[in-house]
Amino acid sequence: MSEAAQRIADYSVRDGIAVITLNNPPVNSLGNALRAAIMEYLKKAEGDPAVKGAVLIGSAKAFSGGADIREFNKPREKPDLAELNDQQDAMTKPLVAAIGGFALGGGLELALACHFRIALPKSQLGLPEVKLGILPGSGGTQRLPRIIAMAEALRMMTSGNPIAAERAKLLGLVDEIVEGDLLEAAVLFLARLLKEGRPRRRIRDMQAKVDGDPKAFFAQAREQVAREWKGYPAPLEIVACAQAAATRPFDEGRKFERERFAHLVNTTESKALRHMFFAERQTTRIPGVPEDTPVREIRKAAVVGAGTMGGGIAMCFANAGIPVTVVEMKQEALDKGLSNIRSNYAGTVAKGRLKQEEMQRRMSLITPSLKLEDMSDADIIVEAVFERMDVKQDLFKKLEVTAKPGAILATNTSTLDVDLIAEATQRPQDVIGTHFFSPANVMRLLEVVRGKQTGKDVLATTLKLGKTLKKVPVVSGVCDGFIGNRMLEKYVQQSLFLLDEGATPAQVDAALQKWGLAMGPFAMYDMAGNDIGWEIRKRRAKERPEMVYSKFADRICELGRFGQKTGKGFYRYEAGNRKPIPDPEVETLLQSYRKEIGVETRQVSDEEIVARCMYALANEGAYILEEGIALRASDIDMVYLTGYGFPPYRGGPMFHADSVGLDKVLAARLPGRAVEARAAACEIRQRGKTLQRLTEESFHDRSSHRFHRAHAALQELARRAQHDARREDGRARGARRARARQGRRRRGRGRDHRLRQPRGRHRLEHRAADRGARRLPELGPRHDGEPLLLLRPADHRACQPENPGWRRRGIRRRRRRVDLAGAERDEQAPLPGRVAAPPQARELLADAADRRVCREALRDPARGAGPLRRAEPAARGQGARRRQVQGRDRADHHQDEAGRQEYRRRDDARSDGRRG
Ligand code: NAD
Repeated sequence: MSEAAQRIADYSVRDGIAVITLNNPPVNSLGNALRAAIMEYLKKAEGDPAVKGAVLIGSAKAFSGGADIREFNKPREKPDLAELNDQQDAMTKPLVAAIGGFALGGGLELALACHFRIALPKSQLGLPEVKLGILPGSGGTQRLPRIIAMAEALRMMTSGNPIAAERAKLLGLVDEIVEGDLLEAAVLFLARLLKEGRPRRRIRDMQAKVDGDPKAFFAQAREQVAREWKGYPAPLEIVACAQAAATRPFDEGRKFERERFAHLVNTTESKALRHMFFAERQTTRIPGVPEDTPVREIRKAAVVGAGTMGGGIAMCFANAGIPVTVVEMKQEALDKGLSNIRSNYAGTVAKGRLKQEEMQRRMSLITPSLKLEDMSDADIIVEAVFERMDVKQDLFKKLEVTAKPGAILATNTSTLDVDLIAEATQRPQDVIGTHFFSPANVMRLLEVVRGKQTGKDVLATTLKLGKTLKKVPVVSGVCDGFIGNRMLEKYVQQSLFLLDEGATPAQVDAALQKWGLAMGPFAMYDMAGNDIGWEIRKRRAKERPEMVYSKFADRICELGRFGQKTGKGFYRYEAGNRKPIPDPEVETLLQSYRKEIGVETRQVSDEEIVARCMYALANEGAYILEEGIALRASDIDMVYLTGYGFPPYRGGPMFHADSVGLDKVLAARLPGRAVEARAAACEIRQRGKTLQRLTEESFHDRSSHRFHRAHAALQELARRAQHDARREDGRARGARRARARQGRRRRGRGRDHRLRQPRGRHRLEHRAADRGARRLPELGPRHDGEPLLLLRPADHRACQPENPGWRRRGIRRRRRRVDLAGAERDEQAPLPGRVAAPPQARELLADAADRRVCREALRDPARGAGPLRRAEPAARGQGARRRQVQGRDRADHHQDEAGRQEYRRRDDARSDGRRG
């Protein structure tokens, strides 16, 4: 007997019965070692003449949780579960599975390959593989329909939900439910079977039956499953396997099952679902906050504000059995809040999902109050008052006095600075953000906002509390909108640009819903209230004037179209009905708006809609990662999967960007206001890595060797970019010469045309300017006065430090390139781990923009301000700011001669500066 087998499973013989005990805590997952151990013990029992039968048993909590999914996509060691099942089938001695706790997935397949099954009353049995985008791949789809009714088997396998022991007994999946000591009962059960001489019952020898015509039955099953599981590939494959179980011999059916399993395991959808499974388990692993960090005890809670969020948050506490005091300013608001809570619970009772007594119990845990002092015994106080800094700070000042020492002071703010709120108290270490999502009692996401001074124990306690409240707590740093809403802003921005360019709200919504989102953006804005976004945009206009928005959403609001609440928004609504109906009025408004901003309507494809909206999310996510606001890409995915109706089979925005391929995301040259391919910034650092991998190897750690590796990668990219540029220049020069030769021949004017070109040093400048301009991001059509930057991957990748060799050779400006991404990044935040040289890049961008202006002016003085207007957008973000600083009036550029002179003057000044 091998040592490994001994460690992971036990073998003993009691009264002629072999007992094989699985011992692989916590869930007895069927990894390589456990499978090998069971195989070894089965053979031992079979070969021992003193043994009459065998019992397979786990712990009281878990028979087995199934396969170890970390072993997926890795080479499997022998024996696999199917081989183990074959050995079970081959046993000449009866084999009983004694199921305590749960038998799930491979665990149930192991039990199904035994000849009999007994279970404890609280045991759960299920095949949840579908939730990971796969199917039961070790005979589960073949055995289950052979032992229970086909319709029931299909329900179990396509829903993935486990059934209780009692139901399993009713269906025939379990032979007996036993009380007390499971092992004792199993041995007695087997002894009785042996005594009665009951034959072994191999499921593989049974026949799967279907009520009525199998063809019609499976056709209907397929139709139903396709409707219920849109976008998920596994359920349909499960139906196909079940059909094989009904129509083919066992071995053939199992072979088919294996093939379908192998196919599914490699689908993006399955990978996404597995990613989600692991991502959820990761969110509470915080570097520097180990699992054994001492936590504060939360026995009582309090919520300030009984509005939309306060009421829902109070319900979360009551649902978890934590007594909660709800404090309001006025009796009227308090009554309204409490009545909302009551009617919410009553609705659940009416749907049969909650017992009346349970509702009473929960209501009794909620204590309404008008006095802050009534919260003085609360271990945590969550404020859900109006979203205004002064209101929140004022409240926190009061809490300073009323809250007991050591109480956690949490804010439910969705946008405000948690650190500023914390400053209002003398105990900032106790302050934390708990951003619940609406409806708070339903949505699983809880963004836990860690302030600068939040104590580690406060963070650990809040994370633990999040789990107690059955939420998915995801840690976010402090920034406007935190993870979810900050990304959403870019998504909103992009969705509105799509309208400007030719799409309709219904088209955008339909495309994204078809792709898998629970709701399209415009239906969502109408539901949330367009006035909320309007307020944010007004605030943004002051705080971040450089942020570009389509003004169309404002136009909608100016007309009082706030969405569902006013019966009109991006759609119209009929009284008492929330169904969005496309409104011709909006279409007319859109057309006149497009005319006003000078954008020609074009056909926008569904693919473009999805790509632009999704890449906008992923790009902002990359910023968020880079700034350390989120700890890992999978956390960002969890935010979207649990708080924003993102389809689980797409794995979240970051997983999606990875699965499309960062190179493709970067290369996507989308028309219109395309997304900045920010993912490039990350890619530069760790070339060839996915976003997920990147964050596993935290790139915030610039002291590590990874930083240097990343730096080397950057250098290499720069070298390559330089090489590309040379080739490109060579080709362009060749083409120009050829054109010139042709022109000379045609016009018969020899080389005279050169007179029209600048000569000598100016000619060199001209050519340099030409190159500079070509390096610029392409300028899309002018759009509402804002730049339409279509960034080329090369623009992102190549941030090239000045080459000393060129300086020596006097070709300073010839091959310098512009890293717009780097320049922008630098402007927005000084970040750790930056490896590029963005200030230089920024200057170069401005430089290149100016050159473009001058080049155009030199060539065609008659065009005057035209080219400038085209170049202006690019210069606005970078060059314009610098021009302002230098006190130069932009209008000067409109004067061709003055522009030319200015160009020369500045160029000389720059050269002098460098020489200096
Ligand atoms: P709401 O207007 O529905 O409710 C706020 C309640 O707070 C009101 O009933 C008001 O009477 C009460 N209140 C105000 N000042 C108070 C004070 N000093 N003491 C006691 N009660 C006071 O607002 P809401 O939608 O529930 O939002 C509350 C907070 O939650 C805001 O910070 C908001 O940004 C945030 N939030 C809202 C949502 C959402 O979808 N509504 C989602 C996430 C977070």
